[in-house]
Amino acid sequence: MTVLVTGGAGYIGSHTTYALLDRGDAVVVLDNLSTGMRAHVGERALFVEGEVSDHALVARLVSEHGIASVIHFAGSIVVPDSVKDPLGYYQNNVVASRALIEACIKAGVKEFIFSSTATVYAEDAPQPLAEGSPKAPISPYARSKLMTEWMLEDTSKAHDFRHIVLRYFNVCGADPQGRTGQVSPIPTHLIKRASLVALGRIPHLDIFGTDYPTPDGTGVRDYIHVTDLANAHLIALDALRSGAASTSYNIGYGRGLSVRQVVAAMGQVIGRPLPVKEGPRRPGDPPTLISNPAKIRAAGWTPHHDDIAEILRSALDWERRFNA
Ligand code: UDP
Repeated sequence: MTVLVTGGAGYIGSHTTYALLDRGDAVVVLDNLSTGMRAHVGERALFVEGEVSDHALVARLVSEHGIASVIHFAGSIVVPDSVKDPLGYYQNNVVASRALIEACIKAGVKEFIFSSTATVYAEDAPQPLAEGSPKAPISPYARSKLMTEWMLEDTSKAHDFRHIVLRYFNVCGADPQGRTGQVSPIPTHLIKRASLVALGRIPHLDIFGTDYPTPDGTGVRDYIHVTDLANAHLIALDALRSGAASTSYNIGYGRGLSVRQVVAAMGQVIGRPLPVKEGPRRPGDPPTLISNPAKIRAAGWTPHHDDIAEILRSALDWERRFNA
């Protein structure tokens, strides 16, 4: 039973492809290489360059490779870009996903896993966030994800089709074997930027906001190692294969770290303080985002990399290797 991974040349898609290949699953990767990298796709996967919205292509891949399940990562993911180009985001994330889901229904694919985001939850929802917490996405990016979740819910009710939505918290780190990692043309994420500062590629880290209602005044997030996140997709896939009903899971560790805690941990890893500059809040950043991972843990997910020093070391190793 082959798995189709859309966006399998991207950050989370390439890690999940390796997780599938490492345990012996057959994988077809479909990616248009708009942001992903061909070199990050595991060699034992069949790589196809193309669009997820190409019905004929998806139908051919399903029949030629006996695809029984789809893991759908492909899409646009930069929140500020989505504010500037909402229609582009709705096209890439909603319209393309609709076409892919329809192609799956027509081709008889009955199992579908979808990458969603913790930013679908309401900003004032009590923390930690459970799957049933109130939803109120703000950015076009987050709305496009929730719209696709709704399409999947409705489709699963109407057809012989089941889906699992995974809502990611702050994904970071890189493959412990160094086979793939994060590539961002314009890095914005805290751990990525902290790694670049640690390696001297940017002079200091800006701390965006020191007046949040959090224990040390800086933003608190649930940082999760991408390898643990990739493994959550295997749990979801196995659940669908054994007949589980459609559902959604939050994927985070259930513990928050502040910006200052991450900065201090990076200082420990590199053996000297990380240069920082304190500044104002970044517009749109909520104070705290923490997952309640009880549901995915009950489904059998056990994280193995919940250690900020390990996460930071893997991010640093990747930056060194990628630019070597
Ligand atoms: N942050 C920061 N400096 C940076 C990047 C991020 O202080 O250079 C803060 C940001 O305000 C938030 C946290 O770090 O509180 C995580 O931000 P990131 O962009 O990594 O993820 P987000 O939660 O925004 O998706």
